[in-house]
Amino acid sequence: MSKPLEGKIGLVVGVANKRSIAWGIAKAWKEAGATLAFTYQGERLKGNVEQLVGEFGEDTILLPCDVTQDAEIDTVFSEIKSRFGKLDLLLHAVAFAPKEALEGDFVNTSREAFRVAHDVSAYSLVALSRAAAPLMTDGGSIVAMSYYGAEKVVPHYNVMGVAKAALEASARYLAYDLGEQKIRVNCISAGPVNTLAARGISGFTAMLKHYEAHSPMKRNVTHEELGATAVFLASEGGAAITGQTLYVDCGYEIMGMYS
Ligand code: NAP
Repeated sequence: MSKPLEGKIGLVVGVANKRSIAWGIAKAWKEAGATLAFTYQGERLKGNVEQLVGEFGEDTILLPCDVTQDAEIDTVFSEIKSRFGKLDLLLHAVAFAPKEALEGDFVNTSREAFRVAHDVSAYSLVALSRAAAPLMTDGGSIVAMSYYGAEKVVPHYNVMGVAKAALEASARYLAYDLGEQKIRVNCISAGPVNTLAARGISGFTAMLKHYEAHSPMKRNVTHEELGATAVFLASEGGAAITGQTLYVDCGYEIMGMYS
């Protein structure tokens, strides 16, 4: 089997457990030949992620990183530099908004919930890309996970939709800044996937059923399919693609009316 990412070093940010989209993408990147480093947020998740990452063998590293903490981000990249000397791939798969902001009306979003959602879910892409770029000496591929609520109103997604719009716009500006260094920055806009973060969105189960009923392919996307798209974006197939938001949602995004 061909290994399009042989010799590449990647950093995966956002594994919480085996249902995480980041874990699906990490497995696909690894299968494609990449060597990966991982981060986890806080002691609570450490054991879980440590156990999962154990599958990757000796050549991986696992580091703590709360993406709102610049000092932790600096430590992650200096460890990557000393261990691997370079970086080729970065996956940004983190998002957070206070639970109450994902339940009621968007109009009631507090200043603090808005700030936190944007800091964790959007600004972190800027901070991580800035730290990654000096290590991407041979070019690189940065991939961030987004959702359709960035573009259209999805009830209950609220401030997270606004943060995803900021994430997608940030990816475009980063793509412009980093393009000459052969660093590409793209978003994958995934259809709904049953994960820890998703279960925090009020009405999420109904969302899964809605996509099954109304997407052209009449089903939901799988972790494996998201992994395959991330491999494509990281490999030669994606060599001239940057600043884009790629919908991987069984076609749901093209619909203007449901039958
Ligand atoms: P997940 O498994 O819960 O992953 C979310 C990750 O973000 C967790 O590891 C979480 O850690 C981490 N995180 C939150 N705040 C953080 C912080 N301050 N610093 C570092 N990490 C932090 O859920 P997921 O669905 O796979 O989410 C991954 C990405 O895909 C997110 O950007 C999400 O918006 C996006 N996405 C998800 C769907 C979906 O339907 N699931 C669809 C489209 C896009 P904690 O658990 O400790 O908070």
